[in-house]
Amino acid sequence: MNLPNAKPPIAVIGSISECELDAYVSLLNQGLPSERFVSESNLNDEQKAHCDIAIVANPSAEQLSKFTSLIWVHSLWAGVEKLSSQCTNSTFKIVRLVDPSLSKVMSEAALAWTLYLHRNMPAYAKQQTQRVWSSLPYCPPESKTIGILGIGELGKASALRLAENGFKVIGWSRHEKAISGIHCYHGQAGLDLVLKSTDILISLLPLTPSTHHVLGRKNLAKMQKNSAIINFSRGPIIDAEALLNQLDSGHISHAVLDVFDEEPLAQTSPLWEHEHVTVLPHISAPTQRESACNIVINNIKMYRQNGTIAPHIDTNRGY
Ligand code: NAP
Repeated sequence: MNLPNAKPPIAVIGSISECELDAYVSLLNQGLPSERFVSESNLNDEQKAHCDIAIVANPSAEQLSKFTSLIWVHSLWAGVEKLSSQCTNSTFKIVRLVDPSLSKVMSEAALAWTLYLHRNMPAYAKQQTQRVWSSLPYCPPESKTIGILGIGELGKASALRLAENGFKVIGWSRHEKAISGIHCYHGQAGLDLVLKSTDILISLLPLTPSTHHVLGRKNLAKMQKNSAIINFSRGPIIDAEALLNQLDSGHISHAVLDVFDEEPLAQTSPLWEHEHVTVLPHISAPTQRESACNIVINNIKMYRQNGTIAPHIDTNRGY
């Protein structure tokens, strides 16, 4: 029972396993004993209606609907596309996770799967199934251009890591940017240039109305022949049907897909068996629980000290 002037509990809401949710609740309570973090299932409707802050991990719209006094929510995920699309009529602010450890994990994935394509691993895996002993020509990383769509928190870290490993890296964003060692482009003309000069294209764009199917029929056709794609951001950035056509025609050599229109990927999807597709189960950059909780705790402390809500998503921009 809340005392009249007591701080309301901070709800932890998510469609993750009970055990994972409990692990977050316990870490948050240990790290910030002045607050009381409680999982959504342990709050009654009256308590839910009083919460002003919630920590969320892919909550359902139904779960959120009981929290009618929220001022802000902190996502435990960096991507908040689903959350923001289901909260269009809500007044609370959405703070997404911006975590240097997560950027490091994503940059590791960008490097790992770029090397997978660069060192012809799909071709050697196929050769092995056919007992073929044959070497493909070696190209140094300096001979390859990696294009990164979206050079925000995750894209910038990935761009720098790839550049450190010898690749030429170019990036594309909405606004003009200057990042040492990376050629940055913006606007449609910039995108055309990136598409036509890239050997391996990595998407780290958030999904918004303006990035939906940005890699559709027309833009995929602008990519240079034999180039490859890695999608680490959200499935609908790529028009899957247009991609399959380009893979079948040989224009695009391979696609590494970590994210899909529907997740888990439907058993009936042709992507599973396509010889030029690598399917990953959304694993490129999982949230690091300890560092995420530290970031959430610091943001709550800042709010309690001076009322400042950490940088939150711009609902007009969509990210
Ligand atoms: P971020 O910091 O907001 O960066 C987004 C970047 O995309 C910015 O450079 C932005 O340009 C650019 N952008 C947005 N709309 C654009 C448009 N219409 N045209 C051109 N550029 C545009 O986001 P982040 O933290 O790097 O995360 C990116 C995405 O990664 C998330 O939204 C999520 O979908 C995905 N993600 C995936 C995983 C996974 O495990 N697969 C994990 C975490 C996140 P400006 O800088 O000019 O605004």
